[in-house]
Amino acid sequence: MSPASSMSPPGSVTHHLTARLRSLRAERGWSLDRAAQATGVSKAMLGQIERGESSPTVATLWKIASGFECSLSSFLVAPPATTDATLFRSTDAERARPASDDMLVAPLFPFDSRMGFEWLELTLAPGYVRESEPHAAGVTEHVLVLQGSMDVFVDNAWQTLHTGEAVRFAADRPHGYRNLNATPAICHNLIHYAAGQPA
Ligand code: MN
Repeated sequence: MSPASSMSPPGSVTHHLTARLRSLRAERGWSLDRAAQATGVSKAMLGQIERGESSPTVATLWKIASGFECSLSSFLVAPPATTDATLFRSTDAERARPASDDMLVAPLFPFDSRMGFEWLELTLAPGYVRESEPHAAGVTEHVLVLQGSMDVFVDNAWQTLHTGEAVRFAADRPHGYRNLNATPAICHNLIHYAAGQPA
């Protein structure tokens, strides 16, 4: 048993993440250097994540996902069974903070290649600001505010969304999310990937 495996029991977010990152890099035949280049995450940090020595923030996970042109949820949970069986999910059961960065993510419906999308619930702590690197070409995001209000950076401006308001935007360009209020904001984020993307 390496120290890493005792730190990350099978089934934990960290255990899944380390395995996913290692296999994805092997699949692509990417060196750590190449992966660092593609993701904007340092080679040292990628190595630490692969060895289970570092628990990345959501922001870092998102950089890795964008760099590999994969869904965020594929780094958080095992892919769901691809059957047409009815699937009940609970955000309360799924909500987790991969590492402390003031955003909670619940992969409500993780990416499924038959559907082409992942459906996340995001909780933005007061003061949370995230500027997102562009996703792969053809990626579209839908944001619907469920609780509180938040701002979304689209078309080069911060736009306020109140509870019940939603926006759809092309996410293959810079975009962002922030919560400047004193209470958490909760939104649904449905990310649709273009046909043929590995995600
Ligand atoms: Mn995004």
